Amino acid sequence: MTEYASAAEVLRAVHDVVNCQSQVLSTERINNLLKLGCHYLNVQTGLVSHVENDTYTVKYSYSETADIPAETTFPLGDTYCSVTLTANEVITTTHASESDEYSGHPCYEKFQLQTYLGLPIRVNGITWGTLNFTSPETRLTPFTELDIELMSLICSAIETIIINSSKTKRLEKLAYTDFLTGLSNRLFITERFEELEPNDNKFANVTCFAIIDVDHFKKVNDNYGHDAGDEVLQQTARKIAGLVRISDCVSRVGGEEFALLLTDLPREKAERVLEKVRTAIEGNAITIDKNQSIKVTVSIGATELKAEDEFNSAYKKADLALYKSKRDGRNRVSWSSN
Ligand code: GH3
Ligand code: MG
Ligand code: MG
Repeated sequence: MTEYASAAEVLRAVHDVVNCQSQVLSTERINNLLKLGCHYLNVQTGLVSHVENDTYTVKYSYSETADIPAETTFPLGDTYCSVTLTANEVITTTHASESDEYSGHPCYEKFQLQTYLGLPIRVNGITWGTLNFTSPETRLTPFTELDIELMSLICSAIETIIINSSKTKRLEKLAYTDFLTGLSNRLFITERFEELEPNDNKFANVTCFAIIDVDHFKKVNDNYGHDAGDEVLQQTARKIAGLVRISDCVSRVGGEEFALLLTDLPREKAERVLEKVRTAIEGNAITIDKNQSIKVTVSIGATELKAEDEFNSAYKKADLALYKSKRDGRNRVSWSSN
């Protein structure tokens, strides 16, 4: 391929990435750019690193010879990127062993890399890491201005991808989070439900779905004010979350209503967990201001999931059981008969 053709290929790829409407994953897009950069410069390895507190963490990599998995870390001082970050601009060498600056560098001593081109990656005005291309072979001619210009374009395309993917992650987090309690929300637990294997409870263990509803919560608002009510919801949420396993899912699904998905455990254990939640909340005084604390109780309705259950059918069964708990005097756990 002529120099013109390879430069045009890099430009086209950068343009595609910046204007990309497709759903191609950011990892795949960055890996493609690294591969393109390596081919264009004729070097072995292209890396994107994230640098924090003097630790260099590989985030994306392309290499023709070595496998450098994401999350591999190096002390920043052992990499040529320490020079790039100090200079805060593009740095190159094509014959490190003959350079005063690089021949004594720990990176040369450890990895014998002769060729290096590195650029700082900046995200929202802050130096985030580096884009670097390396080879153990020396290069016959120095990098040209065009080489550097094209790698800078690749670098800014990578910056765009990193910024967009962190925005997407933030939005996703917001979409699944209940603002008041910080728990996940109804959308999240509905989706978790859809991911359950239909035969989860084929063996001895079961999956249970429960609704936990604060008793007489309207009175809390009426007697102590809405802020106190919010405080009760936040502390109740924390209490429930603290009593279940990380693998369980607890979400706020309504005003004073929480849903709990307990996966893969014996039925008696699920019963014990729910009873523990009930007694812990009953025994917990919630401080609403310096001089006042209040106690609340919860009623719980639970159901053992069947293979054919969907979120709505499970919710209905748990809700009927909850209604029974309320009718029988509140502050209790009831199970649906299925
Ligand atoms: P029960 O024991 O039958 O469940 O009675 P309850 O009073 O708990 O139930 P009800 O449905 O009558 O009242 C729920 C109240 O929860 C009414 C509503 O104003 C209040 N609420 C809903 N969302 C919030 C919130 O985000 N913050 C506060 N402070 N109150 C809320
Ligand atoms: Mg209630
Ligand atoms: Mg309710």
